[in-house]
Amino acid sequence: MTGSSVIGPADRRRVREAAATVVDDAAAFTGDLVRERSVQGAEATAQERVAEALTDLGLEIDRLEADDVPGIEDHPEFADTDDSYDGRPNLSARVDGAGEGRSLLFNGHVDVVPEGDADQWSFDPFGGAIVDGEIRGRGASDMKGGLAAMIYAVEALERAGVSLRGDLILQSVIEEEAGGYGGSLATALAGPEADAVVIPEPTDFDCWIANDGVSYFRVTVEGKGAHAANTDSGVNAVAKLIPIFEALTDLHEERTETVHDELFERDGENTVSLNVGTVDAGEWPSSVPDEAVLEGRISHAPAEERAEIRRLVEETVQAAAAGDQWLEAHPPTVEWFGWRGSSARVAPDEAIVETVQSVVSDGFDHEPRAIGFPGGIDTRFFVNDADTPALCFGPGAHNIHGTDEYLPVDELEQAIASLALIAMAWCGYDRDDEAADADRAARQEGQQ
Ligand SMILES: [Zn+2]
Repeated sequence: MTGSSVIGPADRRRVREAAATVVDDAAAFTGDLVRERSVQGAEATAQERVAEALTDLGLEIDRLEADDVPGIEDHPEFADTDDSYDGRPNLSARVDGAGEGRSLLFNGHVDVVPEGDADQWSFDPFGGAIVDGEIRGRGASDMKGGLAAMIYAVEALERAGVSLRGDLILQSVIEEEAGGYGGSLATALAGPEADAVVIPEPTDFDCWIANDGVSYFRVTVEGKGAHAANTDSGVNAVAKLIPIFEALTDLHEERTETVHDELFERDGENTVSLNVGTVDAGEWPSSVPDEAVLEGRISHAPAEERAEIRRLVEETVQAAAAGDQWLEAHPPTVEWFGWRGSSARVAPDEAIVETVQSVVSDGFDHEPRAIGFPGGIDTRFFVNDADTPALCFGPGAHNIHGTDEYLPVDELEQAIASLALIAMAWCGYDRDDEAADADRAARQEGQQ
């Protein structure tokens, strides 16, 4: 037996060879998962496929439904999604380590966004076919391929005769695309029992170590209705909304110049944004509109507090209304509604970040950048609610959330090998030389 957490070139080669021997099975399994149309609320059958794969690895499965977590509905990030959690479990399975190593959690979401107009696809969105080295269909890239990779990484380690010292936990969750309340929020609150979390979302083999926060808001402005023939006896709510729209646009511009987090600005992007997404007013050309409503989305940097952002938007709306007699008598209202996501940030020199970067840059011809992701990702629950460092690292994003989503099989293989090597470097490992020798002998025999 040899024990190490620094991976020698022979062990690295052995694991990469093992990944090459499991990738066809992993690709077929990804296709099986794609054929289960696991949109929000309908994850159960896909989870059963995952459960079968975990059982085939000889693992015991722990099922956690969101309703099993006491007080989850009081969590500030919980929002009611109208779907019952009954029969939609999150799955966890533990590969016991030999002891004295750090533990690691691989987490993947089994749910997918809907396919949109299927006629716009050039193949069956739920066909899961493997053609020209690509697994094709909704979820192949986001992230059934990543989910398959983390499961088959365990198989690859076994074939390579590697046993981990720390525990490795595999977790398959629901509802990420709809906010993750019943998925990773539930598993994080239940206690991940791991020293670090890696989520193989399609990151193009970069490390997403931070995400911004997101809030939705609605501004309602009152007018005074009147017949169009007597326009001047009414107060047009659209006219009253316009200065508020402009003030919010100015706020966006001001914030993009003053709020900075280097993790979000690697590609010349802004750290934060404010978008007015809908405007709704009036019912009929012959009436003066008596109400106008706009809805927007504002993001905030990890260093900012959500309460601070809310105050900023509310003060901006109030300031835009100041000096207008009508608006002073009929103050606009600001509501915060719907989906909201917290920001999170892991330090770039956190041990798990350095482990992933060094493992991948050593041999894959790619230097993973540590960057921020502008949107909600499940890592935030582990960082904020379970005090556990978490990052996303996985294969490429190919037409995700769009038409003709696919994942190249060679990226799946690289993901399997990377995840296996990350687990070895993080958890520490021993190599079973007897198994390795037997494996080598068997292969030589096969060649003769
Ligand atoms: Zn995803």
